[in-house]
Amino acid sequence: SRSCCSTVQELVSQMEEEPTEAPLYIHIETNDFSYRRHKRQKEEDIAVCECQYDLMDPDSACGERCWNVSTNTECTPGYCRCGVYCKNQRFQKSQYARTRLVKTERRGWGLLADENITAGQFVIEYCGEVISWKEAKRRSQTYEDQGTQLQHSFQ
Ligand SMILES: [Zn+2]
Ligand SMILES: [Zn+2]
Repeated sequence: SRSCCSTVQELVSQMEEEPTEAPLYIHIETNDFSYRRHKRQKEEDIAVCECQYDLMDPDSACGERCWNVSTNTECTPGYCRCGVYCKNQRFQKSQYARTRLVKTERRGWGLLADENITAGQFVIEYCGEVISWKEAKRRSQTYEDQGTQLQHSFQ
């Protein structure tokens, strides 16, 4: 891994060359469980709802009346009786709203909706590395040190 100093220097030189380019980041599609193993759900713990898809009633497939929806639990593929019609697997199927990266004037980079999003609609999963509490503490110390150095380099 890179030292904090080289990272800061790269960041600063990047800002001088291309002020409108997004800072270096790695786009990830799923959470990264390199620090600890992803806990596998036991079959007996899988929540199976009572929904059954009815062609005449599109909302029958895991909509507002679904037990899992009302408890904020996603249906598990292969276990939901609505099959492909199940609308309650948005995290697992990455059914995100359209968004794009924007550079704000004072707050760095942000995410902007690229379509109308209604209240309560699922937008996106915030993915990242799943790390231990100890590692989180170590990194926040590193970021603090970097912040101090950035300040110095701008003086
Ligand atoms: Zn359901
Ligand atoms: Zn379902």
